[in-house]
Amino acid sequence: MSNDTSPVAALISTSDSADAWAAALKALEFPIPLEIWPNISDPARVAYAIVAKPPPGVLAGFPNLKATLSLWAGVDHVTIDPDWPAHLPLIRMVEDGMTAGMREFVLAQVLATHLQLPDFTRQQQVSHWDDHIRGDYGMEPLTDQRTVGMLGLGVLGSVCGKALALNGFKVMGWSRSAKTIDGIDCRHGAEGLNAVLAESEIVVNLLPSTPETANILNAETFARMPKGAWVINVARGEHVDDAALLAALDSGHLAGAVLDVFRTEPLPKENPYWTHPKVTVTPHIASTTRIRTGAPKIVANLLNLEAGEMPEGRFDVDRGY
Ligand code: NAP
Repeated sequence: MSNDTSPVAALISTSDSADAWAAALKALEFPIPLEIWPNISDPARVAYAIVAKPPPGVLAGFPNLKATLSLWAGVDHVTIDPDWPAHLPLIRMVEDGMTAGMREFVLAQVLATHLQLPDFTRQQQVSHWDDHIRGDYGMEPLTDQRTVGMLGLGVLGSVCGKALALNGFKVMGWSRSAKTIDGIDCRHGAEGLNAVLAESEIVVNLLPSTPETANILNAETFARMPKGAWVINVARGEHVDDAALLAALDSGHLAGAVLDVFRTEPLPKENPYWTHPKVTVTPHIASTTRIRTGAPKIVANLLNLEAGEMPEGRFDVDRGY
C-alpha cells in the first residue's frame, strides 16, 4: 500500500469481456488513474467503481466511493448485491452502440415475425411446401397493415419503436409517464396498456425489471392480445409468467414467441422453450454495450461526475429503474 491518497477509478469486472474492457479503458485518457480489480492499491482511494458483475461485497469495501458506473444497460448485476451502496449514484450504461444493436435485433425479429419466417423454417424441417402461409396470393400483409406494441418507451424502446415506424409498421407504445414520440401512438397507465395490447399483433417488451413490471406478460395480458399475436421479449425473464405463456401458445391464442431473456440463464437444457415449435430462443444476445463506443462513454461520464454534473442514466432507487 502506498502513501498516495489521491482518488482512483477501479474497473471491477467478472464478465467474459473483462480483459477487453481493461485494454480499451487503459488506452483512453482518464481524468484520474485507473486500477484493475483485484489489483487495487488502496481501497480507500477508490472514488469511482466501473463495474460488470462485481462480486457481492466488493463495492461496500470502498469507504470513499462517490459513484458506481455500470458497463451494462441493466443494473441488476449491481443491485443484486445486498450491500451495494444505494445512497450513491449508480449510472447505467447509455451508449449508441448498445442502442443501435437493440434497434437492429428488434427490427430483424419483428420483420421475421411479420414475414412469418419461423413458419418457413419449420416447413423446411419437414420438407413441406405451402406457399399460402402468409395469406392468399396478392393479399399478404405489408408492414402498414401490422400493428406493433412497444412496452417501454425509454432509451431502447423509443429508438426501436421509431425504427419500426420508419419501416412502415403502425407502432403503439406504452410507458409510465405520458409521452409524445414521432411515429408512435403513445399510451400510458393501465388503460393505455389495455389499448396497446388489444391492437398489437406483435408485442415487443422493453420494460425494466421492477416489482411493478414483474410478470406483466401473464394470462390476463396475453388474453387481451388479438388471437394469433406474437410476443418478443428482449427485456428480462422476470417479465414473463412462463406457464401462462406456454399455455397461451399451446391453446393457439398466441402464434409464437421470440425469447432472448429468461428467469434462469443459461436456459436449462430441460426447459420446454428449447423444443417448443412456436418459440425462438436466443441466448440473451439482443444487444450488448459495444466496447468501442462504451469505453469513451465511461470517460465522458467520469468527467461529468468530476465536474459535479450527473451523467444520463442515473438509476432511481425509488422507481426501481
Ligand atoms: P429505460 O430507458 O429505463 O426505459 C424504461 C421504459 O419503461 C420507460 O419508458 C418507462 O416509462 C417504462 N416503464 C417503467 N416502468 C413502467 C411501468 N410500471 N409501467 C409502464 N411503463 C414503465 O430502459 P432501457 O434502457 O430502454 O431498457 C429496457 C430493458 O431492456 C431493460 O429491461 C433492460 O434490462 C433490457 N435490456 C436487454 C438487453 C438484451 O440483450 N436482451 C440489452 C440491454 C437492455 P417512463 O418513460 O415513463 O419512465
